[in-house]
Amino acid sequence: MIALFGGTFDPVHLGHLHAARRVAERIGVTSVRLVLSARPSHRGPPGASLADRWCMLELAVADDDVLRADDTELARKGPSYTVETLAALRAVEGGAEPIVWVLGWDAYRLLPSWHRFREVLDLAHLVVVRRPGQDEALDETMTQLTQAHAVQAASELGRWPAGCVLRITEAMLPISSTLVRARIAAGEDARDLLPPAVWTYIKSRNLYGGPTA
Ligand code: ATP
Repeated sequence: MIALFGGTFDPVHLGHLHAARRVAERIGVTSVRLVLSARPSHRGPPGASLADRWCMLELAVADDDVLRADDTELARKGPSYTVETLAALRAVEGGAEPIVWVLGWDAYRLLPSWHRFREVLDLAHLVVVRRPGQDEALDETMTQLTQAHAVQAASELGRWPAGCVLRITEAMLPISSTLVRARIAAGEDARDLLPPAVWTYIKSRNLYGGPTA
């Protein structure tokens, strides 16, 4: 089973790493690929450059046994569509290998806004994690989609290559990149939210509008 966790990672933070590791434990995979969304299509431009976001992601997983930085979307031109990433992976791996795409509840709720969103579940399973405070309800489309695809046990994911939605209900860490950027912009310390090497990198490059050292 291949597990992927996509994000803008602007910057990558401890919440991402914790969630990816917990998912690995829960679904029984030995590695999770953190796929950097090079040119995210449904949000404003990131606060850090693509090169800086990639460097931070590599630093964050440098000594990690489980987590890997994945540059698949860096090489492609145009917006970074998950469906295209998954289709490219399927072309390499074939149709039988289970592929899991990990995402937060906030991202899952907005799945219908994704490019060719129905095809995503033809290509992969979705494993949905929850940040504390993220309990907003699903709309009608997502309620129906969830009812059609939900499974209760992680063991179900290994039985098919794609098409299941597994919700992991345990609360992850209450950290967002928005919080990190806001703290730094306000001149506050954010090292408790970040891998140490990422904090050092942000300070050395004076990212996110922090006061100059
Ligand atoms: P921003 O605040 O800029 O929107 P973010 O913290 O949500 O950023 P992203 O890179 O946009 O980070 O998120 C990548 C994925 O990680 C999304 O699916 C998101 O829901 C999920 N995610 C982000 N933070 C956490 C967290 N603390 N716990 C679990 N999942 C998270």
